[in-house]
Amino acid sequence: MGGAITSSFMRRNNCENPFIGHFFEILKIMKEYDIVLSLGNAARSGCIHDLQDETQREEFRQNLELANLAHDEGVQVIIEGAGGHIRVDRIKEYIEHYKNNSPYPLFVAGPLPTDIAFGYDHIAGCVGASIASSAGADYLCAITPAEHLGLPGIQDVKEGLIAFRIAAHIGDSMKYGKDEKDREIAEKRSVLDLEGQMCLALDRERAEMLSSRISECTMCGDFCAIKLMKMF
Ligand code: SF4
Repeated sequence: MGGAITSSFMRRNNCENPFIGHFFEILKIMKEYDIVLSLGNAARSGCIHDLQDETQREEFRQNLELANLAHDEGVQVIIEGAGGHIRVDRIKEYIEHYKNNSPYPLFVAGPLPTDIAFGYDHIAGCVGASIASSAGADYLCAITPAEHLGLPGIQDVKEGLIAFRIAAHIGDSMKYGKDEKDREIAEKRSVLDLEGQMCLALDRERAEMLSSRISECTMCGDFCAIKLMKMF
C-alpha cells in the first residue's frame, strides 16, 4: 500500500519518489531520534504464480544502495524482501538470494505460500514464515485472519501475533537450535503433567480454555497411549 501511495503521488505530480529526493533529510531525522529505517518491498509478489522478476531484483539492488547510504550515516537499517505471496518451494531460494547478497537484517511479510486461505491467512502465513525464518529471515511481519478481507479487530491481531510467534520459534529452533522449551514440554507430556505444560504454553489462556480443566489430558479418554503403556 505504501508503494502504491508513493507511486500515485509521483504520477499525479509528475515527480520522482519524494522519499528518495529527501533521503538525506529523512536520514538526519532518523538518526536524531534513533529510528530504524525499514526499506520497503513495493514490488513484492501479489500471488503465488508471480515469479521473482527483474523489477523485484532491481528494487532489492536499489534498497541495498540506500541501506549502504543509511549505514554510512549511522542509521540502523533493515530491508524488506520476499514478502507477499511465494510458492512454498521457492521461499528458501528467495531468502537465500537476499541473505547471500545483503549484510542487513531481512524483514519478510508472510510470505503466504497459498492464495486460497483468506480467512485463515495467519495460518498460511505461519507456514510461509516458518520456512522463511528457518532459511534465514530475521524479522517477521504478522498477518491476521482478516488479511485481504477487512481491518483486523483485537482478536484477529492476537491470533496473527500468536501464529507468527510460532513461526519465529520454529525459525529460531532451526537457525539457533533454540528448542529447549519443546524438550521440556515433551518431558512433562510423557509424565502427563498438564500443569507443567500449561506453565510453558505459548498462550496459556487458550490452552486452559481447551483443556478439560482436570489434572491431565483427556483427549483419548481410556485409550491414552501413555497410560496404556504404563499399565503393563
Ligand atoms: S490422552 Fe492422548 S493426547 Fe492426551 S496424553 Fe494421552 S495419548 Fe497423548
